[in-house]
Amino acid sequence: MRLREKGKIIIISSPSGGGKSSICRELLAKHKKDGWRFSISHTTRPPRANEKDGREYFFVSGSEFANMQKRGEFAESCIVHKYRYGTPRRPLDETLRKGGVIILDIDVKGAFKLKRMYSEAALAFILPPSRHELKRRLKQRGTEDDKQLQIRLTRALDEMRLYKRFEYVIINEVLDIAVREVEMIIESLHCRRKNLNEEQIARIIG
Ligand code: 5GP
Repeated sequence: MRLREKGKIIIISSPSGGGKSSICRELLAKHKKDGWRFSISHTTRPPRANEKDGREYFFVSGSEFANMQKRGEFAESCIVHKYRYGTPRRPLDETLRKGGVIILDIDVKGAFKLKRMYSEAALAFILPPSRHELKRRLKQRGTEDDKQLQIRLTRALDEMRLYKRFEYVIINEVLDIAVREVEMIIESLHCRRKNLNEEQIARIIG
């Protein structure tokens, strides 16, 4: 029997169109009963039609965001497509302390910053199966005008080249398979040397 496992932080990043939001949504729906949580960032971006405050994001004003930042409430923050995004520190620290799983959906730069602060976190990158599919997914979203679309596409291609800096890479061709692959990564984390429960090891080794 294992002692209570240490909390697990899973950082999932991808260029837009990679499909990380769908993967995160699916994972959380499947594992709600297991207490897996999503790290809800704060953003100054206005909500999209299907978004709800406190579910996808906490939507805040520029000054609210700046105040939180001053108080040191963010583990990392950055500007993406002219809006500010910040990952709250508390849920991450709580998960590490109390156990459980917390999943983050953040951009590549934020992912690297967090990994430097939380070295036990698993760093995963989602790739679309092809450039053609990436373009199709970005277009299909229809949330952006042509100029925004072109900006996202160029940025996505640049970010994809950074895959080598990630610990895990998932090619998201079939959503169910990609979700299963992330689950397997999460399930295996307790065996990682960094995530071991040292108390238990000490009992074995003495
Ligand atoms: P969107 O506005 O489309 O929801 O998100 C734009 C990008 O910002 C996505 O790549 C998303 O993963 C990223 N993002 C969301 N929250 C955070 C955050 O707290 N920190 C960072 N660095 N990126 C974030």
